[in-house]
Amino acid sequence: PMPPLRTTDYLEHMKAAARSLGWKPFHSPAAINSVPRHGRGSCGYHGYCDRGGCHLRAKNSTCFSTIPEALKTKNLTIFDRAQVTRVVSDNHGRVTGVQYIRDDRDYFQPAKAVLLGSYTYENVRLLLLSKSKAFSNGLANNHGQVGRHYFGHWDAQAGVGVNALFPMDLNVWYGAILSQGVVIDEWADDSFDHAGLGFIGGASMTVNTERHPIAAAATETFGHAPMWGSKWKAWIHENAGRTVSAYLQANSFPYENTYLDLDSEVKDPLGDPVIRVTSGPKENERLAAIYAQDKMEEWFKAAGATAVKKANPGGPRLSTHTYGGTRMGDNPETNVADRWGFAHEAPNLGLLGGSVFGTSGARNPTLTIQALAWRAADHLIKSWKSIAG
Ligand SMILES: Cc1cc2nc3c(=O)[nH]c(=O)nc-3n(C[C@H](O)[C@H](O)[C@H](O)COP(=O)(O)OP(=O)(O)OC[C@H]3O[C@@H](n4cnc5c(N)ncnc54)[C@H](O)[C@@H]3O)c2cc1C
Ligand code: SF4
Repeated sequence: PMPPLRTTDYLEHMKAAARSLGWKPFHSPAAINSVPRHGRGSCGYHGYCDRGGCHLRAKNSTCFSTIPEALKTKNLTIFDRAQVTRVVSDNHGRVTGVQYIRDDRDYFQPAKAVLLGSYTYENVRLLLLSKSKAFSNGLANNHGQVGRHYFGHWDAQAGVGVNALFPMDLNVWYGAILSQGVVIDEWADDSFDHAGLGFIGGASMTVNTERHPIAAAATETFGHAPMWGSKWKAWIHENAGRTVSAYLQANSFPYENTYLDLDSEVKDPLGDPVIRVTSGPKENERLAAIYAQDKMEEWFKAAGATAVKKANPGGPRLSTHTYGGTRMGDNPETNVADRWGFAHEAPNLGLLGGSVFGTSGARNPTLTIQALAWRAADHLIKSWKSIAG
């Protein structure tokens, strides 16, 4: 419903280069207001919201969007500073509520239905911790599927990034992170012919307008100067504003030997086991990443870059985009959640978040997570009697 965030000289330059290669660049879809909307202002393009909130309330967050609307209905009560420690179930396999701690006191909150949305790692941990007579291996885990099919997203943080050096200042110091960017999708998903390539999937490639001074000062020197001392300082002084990074996100998949379980040794402050992540590099994603990195190099060079450096794809372990562990699917033998996001084995338990994903596209996950949450909520309302009893 809103136009893209505003463009910049650098983005226009990269768009022209992409078009010269016959590609079709487009502006990133963004969950940031580009124009005033619903009583909230538009983006100020001053950056620094990558790992923090937006004090102009332009960046969408449930704190500004959904939660205030839900509070207005007077049907929502929020218990802040509350940590759920167990989801409780009865002998018939139905959940009856949650145990939680608030200000050092234990409480039980009864519920006709529980929607668990505590992010992939904690969704899985809470299910595995929540044992009962009906679920001796953890809630909704009688088929041993909780924690399976876990995977992290292969992206720039997993060593898929590409850096470039240009002969001119790019002026990309401030912006709205990757949202104020330009994307190439030609080498993602099934958008291209994979014959003879030896991998499935691919990667999206994004260039964007935000490179903070400290990140720029930590840039590599592309073999033109040492990484320390006065020669390094002189090179950074001259070139920091001429370096830029691209963000590549690969299609990522689950494997038999990537999974989550409870750690046998490490415990949290309450004495409960922390989640243990078993993961590592996979050949398919590595090949897809290398292929996309070569395309990114082509794009940078078409734009006039004088040097390009590609990261060594190492594969994700922990990730800010994590998937699986309570996978969604019709077969209860191999999936924890049904097609609506409710547990096959505990029908009044809804599972929200990336933990229900079976694979990941070459995209950020959160809009899909939100869409699935709306879908699960709609289903709960329509099927309230059969789900909640
Ligand atoms: C730095 C960073 C940048 C990112 N950038 C992007 C991006 O550009 N685009 C994108 O699509 N995604 C991005 N992501 C991923 C995105 O943040 C997640 O996909 C999204 O937040 C998942 O939503 P969620 O509601 O499932 O989980 P969360 O947003 O993690 O919400 C879970 C909530 O549950 C609470 N909780 C956890 N355990 C308990 C417990 N035991 N008891 C009570 N409460 C509990 C947590 O406090 C939290 O409030 C980024 C993530 C990070 C860290
Ligand atoms: S750049 Fe980020 S912090 Fe600044 S207004 Fe835009 S979304 Fe908000």
